Amino acid sequence: MELKNKVAVVTGGTRGIGYAIVKAYLNEGAKVVLFGSRKESAEKAVAELKKENAGYEVEGMYPNLTTYAEVENAINSVAKKYGKIDILVNNAGVSARESIYEYNPDDFDNVIKLNVNAVFYATKAVAPIMKANGGGVIINTSSMVSIYGQAAGCAYPASKFAVNGLTKSLARELAADGIRVNAVAPGVTDTDMVANLPEPMREGIKKTIPLGRIGTPEDVANAFVYLASEKASYVTGEILSVDGCART
Ligand code: NAD
Repeated sequence: MELKNKVAVVTGGTRGIGYAIVKAYLNEGAKVVLFGSRKESAEKAVAELKKENAGYEVEGMYPNLTTYAEVENAINSVAKKYGKIDILVNNAGVSARESIYEYNPDDFDNVIKLNVNAVFYATKAVAPIMKANGGGVIINTSSMVSIYGQAAGCAYPASKFAVNGLTKSLARELAADGIRVNAVAPGVTDTDMVANLPEPMREGIKKTIPLGRIGTPEDVANAFVYLASEKASYVTGEILSVDGCART
């Protein structure tokens, strides 16, 4: 039990990588509040988890992550209920594939608002709570495209470069308050989006990955457990690739 009695908030915890992180944290003894985009999806995820293990201490909330006041209220209410927040995972994100020739500026803004602004909002809200409690851990979900970019949908890699910038800068700024800040950069991971790709396309993707397979949400969640745990007590400002070496 690496996270016994820790209190964690995981954004985008209703499915995919976020859901796997929530489950891994619960299995390590943490109490988890997952943030989803809608009431129904948050309730569904909590019900699924409780069905698997009635002993899991998990609840769901659905603040609008792109509105600072809503994020701050949600974070404060978690701290009030549990007395602290030890771990914040900024995982909610949207991707994009539009060509620059077709890119609608509003769509560009929407990617940045969720993938970057929301990371800043949740971090700003949680930092004073962690500082008052003597420290904490913040982990952001980046992407392998934050290393070398992507040939379409430029808002998405741009947003993940920004996530890395926030991670490295805030790690320096918050170190004195005992708060570690890291990011995990997954490669292609078998969430709903990838699972629905035609088999020939999946085979093509596998050929680009030296380890020869697409990552699972659990592969990625393991890195989040490590970074949240005391085993990573001297690790901060790190962007940890979990991509089967696909980035090279
Ligand atoms: P997913 O689409 O399965 O899940 C996304 C999560 O974000 C969901 O829980 C959803 O509720 C939440 N979300 C989406 N829009 C939201 C909004 N407007 N407000 C609040 N929450 C919102 O995606 P995933 O693949 O699990 O991705 C999770 C993270 O991992 C993202 O940051 C993504 O960029 C990153 N990532 C994914 C992959 C991959 O191949 N799946 C690779 C690298 C990085």
